[in-house]
Amino acid sequence: LETEPATAIEEISALMEWADSFRKLKVRANADTPDQATEAIKLGAEGIGLCRTEHMFLGDRAPLVQRLILAEEETERSAALDELLPLQRQDFEGIFKTMGGRPTTIRLIDPPLHEFLPSETDLLAEVIRLECNEPESPKLPALQNMLRSVRAMHEANPMLGLRGCRLSFIFPGIVQMQVTAIISAACKVRKEGLGVEPEIMIPLVSHVNELKWVKERLEQTAQQVMQEEKIEVDYSFGTMIETPRAALTAGEIATEASFFSFGTNDLTQMIFGISRDDAGTFLRHYIDEGILPDDPTESIDQTGVGRLIKLSIDDARKIKPELKLGICGEHGGDPRSIAFCHTVGMEYVSCSPKRIPIARLAAAQAALSSA
Ligand code: PEP
Ligand code: MG
Repeated sequence: LETEPATAIEEISALMEWADSFRKLKVRANADTPDQATEAIKLGAEGIGLCRTEHMFLGDRAPLVQRLILAEEETERSAALDELLPLQRQDFEGIFKTMGGRPTTIRLIDPPLHEFLPSETDLLAEVIRLECNEPESPKLPALQNMLRSVRAMHEANPMLGLRGCRLSFIFPGIVQMQVTAIISAACKVRKEGLGVEPEIMIPLVSHVNELKWVKERLEQTAQQVMQEEKIEVDYSFGTMIETPRAALTAGEIATEASFFSFGTNDLTQMIFGISRDDAGTFLRHYIDEGILPDDPTESIDQTGVGRLIKLSIDDARKIKPELKLGICGEHGGDPRSIAFCHTVGMEYVSCSPKRIPIARLAAAQAALSSA
C-alpha cells in the first residue's frame, strides 16, 4: 500500500489545547536522540523525562565500548574514555539544542556491562572452531582473551547485578566521562545563547549512601568542567526510585536529590519479584484467570506498587517539599496510571513520544475528575 506520513488533524489539535488548559501534570518524553526529541516536541512534550544513555554505547561505538570494558590497564581504559567523550558530548549537544531550554533528564549508564560484549555462546563456538581447524589463526588469542573476560563478567542474575549506580564503584571513569560530556555540552549550548536545563539522573539506588558517594564525586566533575569552560549552567542531580528499599527510605534519599523519577518498570519487577524479561511466559495466564486484574507491567498496580510510591512521596516531601517528582517507567503513558500520578501529586509523567497526546488527554481527564 502507498503510505504517507500522518499530518496534524485540526480537531485533535483543538482537543489537545483544551486538555492542556485543564491538566496539572506536565508531560515529558522518554527520548534518547535529537530525532526522538523533535518528534516528542511536535507531539507536545514539555521536556525529556528519561534519556537512556546506554543506547549511545551501541552500534558503531560498540568496539570502543568493548575496549573500555575489557581494558586491563588503567591507561588503556582512559584512552577509550577519551575517545568516547567527544562522541557523547555531541550526543548531548544535539539533544540540548533540540530541547531549546526545556528540562532534560539524562540518566547515567544503567545496564550490566556484559550487554555490550559479544555473546558467550557465539564466542565459544568461534574459539572451538578455530582451535580445532585453524589453531595457528592470528585471531585466536584475542578471541580467547575476550571469552575469558566475558566469562569473568558473567552474572547469574544480571538484572540484579552490576547495574545502575553500582557500576560507578567499579568503573567510576564511565560516569565521570558522561558528566563531563553533559556539562561541557550544556556550557557550549549556553555560550551560543540558548537555554539548557540538564537534570543528571543516577539510577538504581537502594541506599542514600550510594547516591551520596556517587553524587559528591560527580558534583566535583561538573564544577571542574564549568571552571574550565568559564561559564555556569544550571544543572541538578537526582535519582530514580526503582528499588523497594529506595522507596521505603525515600525520606533519607531525598536529602541527596533534587528530583526523583519513579522507574516503575524496575520497581514493579522488584516488588512483585517478577523478572521483566521472563514475565511474558506466565503473566498472560494471570490476567486470563483473573488472578491479577491488569498487567502490572502496563498499568501501575495501585494497591501494591502504588502504595509504596505514595508512601515514598509523602516521606520525601516531608523532608524536601520542593522535590521534583515524576515517573519515567512504561506506566507514564498509561491513562489509569497517569490518573494515579495526578492523585499522588507528581509534577510530570514521561512516556514514549507516540504516547504523548494520550498522556496529555489523560492528565486533563484526571484533573477534571478530581476537581
Ligand atoms: C524503569 O525501571 O522504570 C526505567 C525507566 O528504567 P529501565 O526501564 O531503563 O530499567
Ligand atoms: Mg530501570
